[in-house]
Amino acid sequence: MNLYEYQGKEIFRKFQIPVPDGYVVSSPSEVKSYTSPVVVKSQVLIGGRGKSGGIKFAKDQATLGNAVKELLGSKVRGLTVSKLLIEQMLDIRKEFYLSITLNRTERKPMLIASVAGGVEIESVPETEIFRKSIDPIVGYSDFIGRQLTKFMKFDAQLAKQLRAILPKLYQVFEKYDCELVEINPLVLNGDGKLIAADSKVIIDSDSLYRHQEFPKEDPERTPLELEAQSKGYSFVELEGVIGVIANGAGLTMATLDALLLHKGKPRNFLDLGGTDSTDIVVEAFDLVLKANPKVILVNIFGGVTKCDTVAAGIVEAKKKYGIKQQLVVRLSGVRETEGREILKQNGIVAFSEMMPAVEKVVSFAGGA
Ligand code: GDP
Ligand code: MG
Repeated sequence: MNLYEYQGKEIFRKFQIPVPDGYVVSSPSEVKSYTSPVVVKSQVLIGGRGKSGGIKFAKDQATLGNAVKELLGSKVRGLTVSKLLIEQMLDIRKEFYLSITLNRTERKPMLIASVAGGVEIESVPETEIFRKSIDPIVGYSDFIGRQLTKFMKFDAQLAKQLRAILPKLYQVFEKYDCELVEINPLVLNGDGKLIAADSKVIIDSDSLYRHQEFPKEDPERTPLELEAQSKGYSFVELEGVIGVIANGAGLTMATLDALLLHKGKPRNFLDLGGTDSTDIVVEAFDLVLKANPKVILVNIFGGVTKCDTVAAGIVEAKKKYGIKQQLVVRLSGVRETEGREILKQNGIVAFSEMMPAVEKVVSFAGGA
């Protein structure tokens, strides 16, 4: 789960990582009277707000009021702004990048830093990035901090501040079961102080029962995704035209990858899961049809989910919804022969391999 910038900064403050003074508002009436220059920051769970007009600067009461009115209710990169963080404006001299994330290959937390901050780390040349795994049994040790400050070419003043922040950042990472704790930018201000100007904290969703202080809100879910979720499906709406029904998260992901590889554009992710019920298949069709795809691909590798059950579900859904879209089916695995027979009796020829089915559905969709 992603935390908002203000929530991340509340944690930072608690752990004594320096952050600017500020407060959150969700209506113009909550704005305090202006005393010094402030930044008004849209609280949305997406980066790049600066570049997309989601951050405004105010040097008097009138500009502050206008910024708040303009941003509240507006959209930043497609997400509606319902909260703003109003913070004392920083006098920025330099911007750095600092984060701890999970290195899944090594199964260890990894410290990442760069003197090139304020931009996405993906765009920074590898030679300018410091990476160091931290042994979770040992935890953070100051020798890592010394290596880092040397890499960053920090003077004694800066090095001291950074080495004070690092163990606290590691504590946050550990305490909150994080997948990522990121400060971008970590700012050097006019007084020579290091301050976290932004925060991005992602908590491992499986650990949320240990962090119930964060209300589970999911503003990014579409109404259809919420409907699917309430019915127990893993379902994500995408921007393309090819409706997808597959079984198992891995196979469903692989199906999307295969479609993209052939320049097909999936309309959704839908994992049937392990099921042996035609009703679930019919309901899955209902969801996918509501997303209004141009064509539909069903990709099943039978196991717990049996091919004949799925085939019966497809036939039932066709009758129930009078599906107009071209339908491409791939069946393989448990009770494949039976499933294939059911489909054949209803005029549907199922593929047994995934790639030919993918190519077919992409060609029906009209290619790229
Ligand atoms: P993001 O674009 O969503 O990552 O939002 P950030 O909080 O990282 O802000 C983006 C950029 O706005 C930063 O890299 C800074 O250049 C600038 N910015 C943010 N806060 C301040 C501030 O207090 N003072 C100044 N001068 N610039 C700021
Ligand atoms: Mg940022």
